[in-house]
Amino acid sequence: RRLLAAALPAVLALALGAAACGTAAGGSDELQIALLLPENKTARYESHDRPAFVDRVQEVCADCETLVSNADQDAAHQQAQAEAALTNGADVLVLDPVDSRSAAVIVRLAHAAGVPVVSYDRLVLDVPVDFHVTFDNEQVGVLQAEVLLAAVGDTGGELVVLNGSPTDDNAALFRRGAHSVLDTAGVTVGAEVDVPDWSPDQAQEAMDRALTTLGRDRVAGVYAANDGVAGGAIAAMKAAGLDPLPPVTGQDAELAAIRRILTGDQYMTVYKAVRTQAEMAADVAVSLARTGEPPDDLRNSWVDNGQGRIPALMLEPVAVTRETIAATVVADGFWSVDEICEGL
Ligand code: BGC
Repeated sequence: RRLLAAALPAVLALALGAAACGTAAGGSDELQIALLLPENKTARYESHDRPAFVDRVQEVCADCETLVSNADQDAAHQQAQAEAALTNGADVLVLDPVDSRSAAVIVRLAHAAGVPVVSYDRLVLDVPVDFHVTFDNEQVGVLQAEVLLAAVGDTGGELVVLNGSPTDDNAALFRRGAHSVLDTAGVTVGAEVDVPDWSPDQAQEAMDRALTTLGRDRVAGVYAANDGVAGGAIAAMKAAGLDPLPPVTGQDAELAAIRRILTGDQYMTVYKAVRTQAEMAADVAVSLARTGEPPDDLRNSWVDNGQGRIPALMLEPVAVTRETIAATVVADGFWSVDEICEGL
């Protein structure tokens, strides 16, 4: 009987597939939680998402181990990283997809192995996922556009709109939120570009082209979807000798952006409490790994990804201008005054 008991996990694994009984492959007792990040040009992933996620898993689950990878903006590479995580016995995937559509393949592979998937920050489209932890992304676009319009006033000039990556579903939501405000106000958008891969360099090139097409004196303001894109746009305008710069938006409250807001190069950013987001995602992941179910009390919304209703936790973004840096990012411990001042 003892022999049979010893052999049972192996027999079950053979009969049911390694993940069917909730144990990690390879007979390890540890629960394996894989976090798959999309890129590292945007500072948040390595500076906040990764450490907050890893710390939280350690805090709430003594027998959990985290495997973190970053796809460096390459969707095929992300799929390979997901496959490696599954081969290594991952019990749950927390996936921030490089490409919201093609990542459906990753979710299907995980589900075929009995492994649940949390869609992290960006929604995976056209496939059932187990949970979504994100921000109100349309509201991000609304905040950016509202603050921009208030800063631009009635100059009669035109706006340049630099959206995020066309493969990121969030970029479409930011754009939708922003246009809901801009279109209602009836402002003129002189140039609009979806910046491939959220690349700051490509944003700089797009801004360069817009300055040539519109004429540098016609640009009244720049809608930049995140701080990396804002950095590229600002570099292009500085190189063209614009002084003063028109108001520029952003997102992520990156350290570089907070400093640009203080020196007057950038007008606003959007603060998202990414640490809270990563911690909540860790809680969802641990619950899924342990019980196969997300926690009851973390869902506050539902989203539709084309394949039914996905339970979601949606957090609130906050607009930040020079006047509100202290009351937002500093008060929340996202950046300390010392960290901000060090680079000024
Ligand atoms: C995230 C942003 C980020 C951008 C580029 C979006 O999906 O929500 O916070 O700046 O991707 O990585």
